[in-house]
Amino acid sequence: MNILLLGSGGREHALAWKMAGSPLVDRLFCAPGNAGIGNEAELVNLDLADPGAVAGFCHAHGIDLVVVGPEGPLVAGIVDTLESVGVACFGPSQAAARLEGSKGFAKDLCHAHAIPTAAYERFTAAALAKAYLRSQGVPIVVKADGLAAGKGVIVAATRAEAEAAVDMMFSGGLGTAGAEVVIEEFLEGEEVSLFALCDGETAIALASAADHKRVLDGDRGPNTGGMGAYSPVPLMTPARERHAMDTIVLPTLRALKAMGTPYKGILFAGLMITADGPKLIEYNVRFGDPECQVLMLRLMSDLVPALVAARDGVLKSFDLRFYPHAALSVVMATRGYPGDSPKGSVIGGLTEAAAIDGVEIFHAGTKREGDRILANGGRVLNVCAVAPSIEAARERAYAAVDKIRWPEGFCRRDIGARASKQTAARD
Ligand code: AMP
Repeated sequence: MNILLLGSGGREHALAWKMAGSPLVDRLFCAPGNAGIGNEAELVNLDLADPGAVAGFCHAHGIDLVVVGPEGPLVAGIVDTLESVGVACFGPSQAAARLEGSKGFAKDLCHAHAIPTAAYERFTAAALAKAYLRSQGVPIVVKADGLAAGKGVIVAATRAEAEAAVDMMFSGGLGTAGAEVVIEEFLEGEEVSLFALCDGETAIALASAADHKRVLDGDRGPNTGGMGAYSPVPLMTPARERHAMDTIVLPTLRALKAMGTPYKGILFAGLMITADGPKLIEYNVRFGDPECQVLMLRLMSDLVPALVAARDGVLKSFDLRFYPHAALSVVMATRGYPGDSPKGSVIGGLTEAAAIDGVEIFHAGTKREGDRILANGGRVLNVCAVAPSIEAARERAYAAVDKIRWPEGFCRRDIGARASKQTAARD
């Protein structure tokens, strides 16, 4: 098979690494990719916002399957365009991708089907939103309806902060993404990411994973795309996972099928494990980044036939196996992230770091220049490790981090510490 993977982050490097190991793959292409993905796949310079160009490449290179990494092209409808010209594509249609493309749509779907989630209201004007805020307590959560590159959620500790978020969104601070706003109840608990491979009807739960969203140790500082991840999550017992599948993921699949827009692809449910059980924080319509990196390290089965079976609607007779070992990923980012992060600094020590037993390094914002690897964005590297326990994986990952020579970079030092606390509380 010839496969084209779309995207350029650590998530796509992990997917490329996993698919490159499949005996089913003849040629693996990635557009646009990064320096690390270039070791696994042939890099192609395609504009993901131009589905016509992607389709042209697929026809010219006999592509049997396109795998879409990020949400942008999915919400813009790339799967519909490619499928309409005979190119098989893994990912949800534009209509199904509204689960991530519109928070209001996802919340209304939950409401209509009694799927547990935070209480909410939708607004298209600041005055009504502020009147609602006056009737509610704090903390409270203000969300832009559309895609906002991780900047669309404000967890407000005070009413003034919530009102400022409403003003920022309605005055165009997030472009059209903020033309509608969802205000919702603050949920208390531990966050877990639940990933399900879906074929429109059947869903297979993948291993549990969790990420660390805040930029600083101790879960402080602003939210980021994710500063690290680990799998499995001790809190996510098989019983809790079953419960979340039965009360959240499967009713969502049934609802979308009944609407005539069946969901195929990875459905990523961001969950809060509250005192009343798991509740949906939000849906994403693709793998999480950095959760994908730890999931791929734990996946024993070949990913490629699973993606094909999901796309073809035949997951019912399918199974996926995971290694019992733990995996952990530490994100290294350019200083300044999640704010402005200068590009072009040189990263050394990657070979020594990757030589540590159990260590795998997935690139995100990197660029190759001759034989040098340069930082090319905010999140730059995912230093990952597998080991029998999360604690052992953490030790290996940080031993690798310490081999990397990159003064312009930084990372959190406490990735996975939350998991150790959960294990202690559970045992
Ligand atoms: P989202 O982009 O919707 O995942 O939101 C980003 C982060 O904001 C989540 O990972 C949570 O940490 C936090 N968050 C979002 N919604 C809520 C909520 N209703 N209650 C508490 N925290 C939330």
